[in-house]
Amino acid sequence: MAADAPSIDWDAIAEEATRLLSDFIRIDTSNPPGRETAACEWLAGLLRAEGIDDITFYDASDDREYGAERMNMTATMAGDGTKQPLILLSHTDVVPVERQYWDFEPFSGAVVDGVIYGRGALDMKSMGIMELMAMLIIKRHRIKHTRDIVYMALADEEAGGVWGIDWIESHHPELLDAEYVINEGGWGSAEVFGTRRPAFNCSISEKGPLWLKLVAEGRPGHGSVPHPDNALDRLVRALAKVQEWSRPVTMVPELRNYFDRLHRNRILADAPSQASMEKLAGENLMARAILTNTVSATTARAGMKHNVIPGIAEATLDCRLLPGQDPEAFTQQIRDIISDPKVRIETVFKSSTPSSPIDTELFGIIEDAVHDHVEEALVLPSVSAGFTDSRVFRKHGITSYGFIPYLLEQDEAMTVHGHNERITVENLKLGCQILFETVRRLVA
Ligand SMILES: [Zn+2]
Repeated sequence: MAADAPSIDWDAIAEEATRLLSDFIRIDTSNPPGRETAACEWLAGLLRAEGIDDITFYDASDDREYGAERMNMTATMAGDGTKQPLILLSHTDVVPVERQYWDFEPFSGAVVDGVIYGRGALDMKSMGIMELMAMLIIKRHRIKHTRDIVYMALADEEAGGVWGIDWIESHHPELLDAEYVINEGGWGSAEVFGTRRPAFNCSISEKGPLWLKLVAEGRPGHGSVPHPDNALDRLVRALAKVQEWSRPVTMVPELRNYFDRLHRNRILADAPSQASMEKLAGENLMARAILTNTVSATTARAGMKHNVIPGIAEATLDCRLLPGQDPEAFTQQIRDIISDPKVRIETVFKSSTPSSPIDTELFGIIEDAVHDHVEEALVLPSVSAGFTDSRVFRKHGITSYGFIPYLLEQDEAMTVHGHNERITVENLKLGCQILFETVRRLVA
């Protein structure tokens, strides 16, 4: 650790962070409907209590017609201005729960045997707390900083960001002024591709969502007299063709470094090549997700009675495109595959974003901070299969990394958006340490 690092009681920080995360989880921000205002007010109260009072609320629910209580907020600690700002970004909303599958009340923030349970424990209230602790430690220890440090808590990420990052982009573009953003999008795993070796992902890019709706039309009729213009039959045929369509394995340039590092460290036996990537994508779902354009059928709807042939049938496809791919061209490919003029394709949502570079001061600092705490760890510049609010910052040319520095076992990572979402106190502590150290060095 660097000589000028302040002496910090990390056990006390871990205890404090645990208590705060439990409290944060208890503020139910399930989206829909979100109701992030309570979370922002709670965070602002904590910051103000420590003398961080440059706080601004950005209320997307001013547009009462649609939303309510959709608050976004920033808290800023001004630097000396010699370097550009750093944004510590998080979203305060969480996905809903299926309560019957949980062993604990999902909004209780229960702490049992060193594990904190609850919706948002991983995605991403824990990171919101780790970022908060970094702010508080810098303030408490009066650590001098060149950069403004901006704590930014946004609404609505889990529903696409209409009342969060997209609203900020259109109503408060002045907030998109920084050199660096640290956000969700990548974290550490205790094993990587089947090998026990701690590996911290730092995502530099992400796949672009392309949400399509298929609308099949046909002729309604009596179920007792089948005919070839049945809308539901059309939809089923279309979905079957999409399902059977095999798409090529492509290693985008952003992933070259990722796979090189895995090979150099003997996690992957073969050097990255078209053949080895095809083999890997065939064996591992996560590898396939970052090496191909993917399509998941997610909803279907048709009919209203057992003996009535429906005139319309609809399905939704969640497509995720590799960085640099053209959504229009991909949609046209699907249209060609389906090849039925009575199946219409509508675009519901799409986003694509440029990638962030890895030859930056921040990436180097992240590598050092990780190695100071977990010596044998790999740091991997990765591409996130999911999309995040970073998409907007990257579009504005701001280097944005997905870097949540805890180290998860496979079964813990599986609880994101799932049941019994949880994080260990030990991981929360490690995350607080690495994140603080990263921020401290970057703002020095
Ligand atoms: Zn998230």
